[in-house]
Amino acid sequence: MPNQAPILVTGGAGYIGSHTVRLLASQGRKVVVLDNLVYGHRGAIVDDGVELVVGEVGDQDLVRSLFAKHGFAAVVHFAAYAYVGESVTDPLKYYQNNTAEPIKLLQVMQEVGCRNFVFSSTCATYGVPEAVPIVESNPQNPINPYGRSKLMLEWVLADCERAWGLRSACLRYFNASGCSPDGRIGEDHDPETHLIPRVLMAVTGEIPHLDVFGTDYPTPDGTCIRDYIHVGDLADAHARALDHLAGGGDSVRCNLGTGVGVSVKEIIDAVEAVTGRKVPVKYGERREGDPPQLLADPRLAKEVLGWEAQHKDVRDMVESAWAWVDGPHKGHFPE
Ligand code: UDP
Repeated sequence: MPNQAPILVTGGAGYIGSHTVRLLASQGRKVVVLDNLVYGHRGAIVDDGVELVVGEVGDQDLVRSLFAKHGFAAVVHFAAYAYVGESVTDPLKYYQNNTAEPIKLLQVMQEVGCRNFVFSSTCATYGVPEAVPIVESNPQNPINPYGRSKLMLEWVLADCERAWGLRSACLRYFNASGCSPDGRIGEDHDPETHLIPRVLMAVTGEIPHLDVFGTDYPTPDGTCIRDYIHVGDLADAHARALDHLAGGGDSVRCNLGTGVGVSVKEIIDAVEAVTGRKVPVKYGERREGDPPQLLADPRLAKEVLGWEAQHKDVRDMVESAWAWVDGPHKGHFPE
């Protein structure tokens, strides 16, 4: 491995962050997690060697002291709010937390000379795509403050590169799903808005039924199509991005998806096949701001990072998500 110096992972107690932390730790890397635990879970940090610091990304004294103590070679930045609907009603919360706070972190990085940054960006930066599959050069016209708060940080990173040589990997995730192979950590949002966990909640009776948002989209079965990507594959891409930057690679902005489109109805069918239970469903109106189809062209990540999704079958993805919901934690961390 090109670099064994410690890595700072912000938001490492969240869903994608915690899976990445486990992978990095399993690769023998020293990892320190900085998380305010607003949405993250203490119980998502399961490896003994990983230090969890509870605090804010924008607390410059704290971040400075962590750099002084550990001399991080790179930062992997997950810490963000990710509720699209809330970003519309409370945009300042999103611009503050997703754009302004990481700028304070970047100021410390500039000060101490740390120049490697892996950023959890999103396909929401594309807005309603002009064409699918989406290639990275497609226009980025986000349609909500969440997407804009993430895109703004992509711009900030590019400007920091020009000004002081920061190199970054902006990883634009599509729809994360699944849990760790041992079922110890998985997706636990409160509130939970994402499709796969909600279908599973409908199956277990945690919610009375699943609302399907729109059946009149211009897709083969009338429901929206998304690109579901396994959280373990996302974690792998972060590890590769760290190696790429540590090895002197150029900054990269790339999609992380499978390139396989799956409709809402196909997810429901997969859940019924995997669990052997009927999903109680109510078909309803479209949810505002949902593009009919989001699908990644994942070729750039393969070219630059040597990364390719290992889980491409939606049944695989649903089986993995079900292992967490049907496991000892029943889909929720204990604390
Ligand atoms: N969706 C749905 N019912 C739900 C949650 C989601 O029909 O309770 C649909 C949503 O309209 C979208 C797809 O499932 O077409 C994926 O939504 P999710 O919120 O998981 O991710 P997004 O693509 O919005 O980031």
